[in-house]
Amino acid sequence: MDENFDSLQLRSHFLSATQVPMLAVDRAGRIVDINDAVIHASRMPREQWTGSDFVAHFIDRPAAGRLLQRALTEGNVVSETLRTQHGDGSPAELELHMEPIRNDAREVIGLFVEARDVTDVKQVQCKLIAASHYARSLIEASIDPLVTISTGGKIMDVNRATEQATGRPREALIGSDFSDYFTEPAKARAGYQRVFSQGHVTDYPLALCHTSGTVIDVLYNASIYHDEAGQVAGVFAAARDVTALKRSQEALETTNREVVLLGQTNSLLQSSRTVEESYPIIRATMEQLFPASSGRLFLLRASGNLLEEAVCWGAQCTEELSIPPGDCWALRRSHIHEIGFEKSINPPCRYIDPETKPYMCIPLQAQGTALGIIHLVIDPAGTDANRRQHFRQLAGAAADNISLALANLRLRESLHSLSIRDPLTGLYNRRFMEEALAREISRMTRARKPLALAMLDIDNFKHFNDAYGHEAGDMVLKEFAQLMSRFRQGSDLACRYGGEEFLLILPELEPEQACARLEKFRDSVSHLSVMLHGKALPGITVSIGVACLPGHGTHGESLIKAADDALYRAKANGRNRTELADVGKS
Ligand code: GH3
Ligand code: MG
Ligand code: MG
Repeated sequence: MDENFDSLQLRSHFLSATQVPMLAVDRAGRIVDINDAVIHASRMPREQWTGSDFVAHFIDRPAAGRLLQRALTEGNVVSETLRTQHGDGSPAELELHMEPIRNDAREVIGLFVEARDVTDVKQVQCKLIAASHYARSLIEASIDPLVTISTGGKIMDVNRATEQATGRPREALIGSDFSDYFTEPAKARAGYQRVFSQGHVTDYPLALCHTSGTVIDVLYNASIYHDEAGQVAGVFAAARDVTALKRSQEALETTNREVVLLGQTNSLLQSSRTVEESYPIIRATMEQLFPASSGRLFLLRASGNLLEEAVCWGAQCTEELSIPPGDCWALRRSHIHEIGFEKSINPPCRYIDPETKPYMCIPLQAQGTALGIIHLVIDPAGTDANRRQHFRQLAGAAADNISLALANLRLRESLHSLSIRDPLTGLYNRRFMEEALAREISRMTRARKPLALAMLDIDNFKHFNDAYGHEAGDMVLKEFAQLMSRFRQGSDLACRYGGEEFLLILPELEPEQACARLEKFRDSVSHLSVMLHGKALPGITVSIGVACLPGHGTHGESLIKAADDALYRAKANGRNRTELADVGKS
């Protein structure tokens, strides 16, 4: 035993008063004394402790030896945590504080060791660290930008998503003003203030600026957070990137607008009375559907041998174009033809300048009949595949609507023409003439202007028919009608009244002027040469009776009657002559 053994004896009353395990160790590293707390904690009897090697109680013996030596030689309190094993084999973490014990000569004669069992504390610490790692990884795993902002508006912490959303590293963000990264810093600050006044904000819309220049639309959810003392420490804010959502919302709105527009177009086209009336509607529709575009609508002539420009919009409206239908791939294939939108082997149409921008050509067809094409020049730069596909569908839908409307209008025009025109000669028929005459009489009466009405009847036509056949008669009627059409001027109207009788309405002509003009016509009829099967038919003559407004009548019926009487006189007076109605007889 050490000479100083007595000094190393722990005063039991002092030692048993504490729950902290305490040991006394001599300079040789032997345990001299322990308190009850050691027995209790280690679940080992006192005999196993006293006289045993201090170092031998630790799992890492060399470390325990080094600590012991340090404590003995440095002469100060040394502390370290070492692992040991209890009597029942359970591991324990001991926080050791070693304080030198000195004799009267101030020499270190041993160590007073306080061995706190910190196993539980360590475990809690480990759990805390693990929990904090877990929380951090949750924050980092979030695809939403998360940020904490101090009460002074400075960024205190960010996650990786914030770095990605702003394009800036964490170091640059931390300590900077949070509002610097928004398109509207004032709005961002207003939102931040609202968090303080309300405790939180929900779905606060802002736009984040990325260093690349792109803007990300976000919705912020933020709330205040407190420190351990319960004081407001700052704001915790989470942003949700709604750029894609906003895009799809915008796309939906655009589609809605387009659907409404196409509906309006449809309704307007259906109310149009002529093909020509539809042109400005088609132009306005295309301009609104494809704002940055230019283009043309070509219609196929009835003969089918020419595509004629009917409508144009945008930069294309420089010169009017007509193209052979064979030059258009879309028309030939009855399929949309694209150049420059995607990589393709499509050859450009022959009428197109090879330098031209990307274009698409959409065939117009209804009920299997080709009507024309829409040539649409759109710059697809900056558009993605979805947008280009949308262009295609939209152009297709517009073309379908336009095709159907044009086909209807053409049908209506031909039906209308059938109802008002004589099929043999193409002149207006008697029904239309009667309506037109009433209209013209009232127009001229209102304007206090004259009007002449001429009844024309081919001479001895029965004989002509009998001698040369019905076909020859028809041929003469057609040629006679064409001559009348050429004779027509301004608002003159030429009609077939029936059989070989015709009628001319000549507004604004005085009787003398009318007779003079009709005399010229009568003369040209006598020189009309009609061919049938390569042979010239004999010439014909015509008798004409003229009646005028208001002298010979003020209504259609009375004027026709007066003209007919004058015609009868012309026949009676030898035919091939023009007679003016008698004033007194009207
Ligand atoms: P006038 O000089 O007195 O007028 O003698 P006209 O023979 O011309 O008179 P009429 O009214 O007796 O004969 C008219 C003839 O016109 C009878 C008919 O054969 C013929 N005609 C009427 N419509 C047509 C038609 O669409 N085609 C042909 N080829 N002949 C027609
Ligand atoms: Mg007749
Ligand atoms: Mg006749």
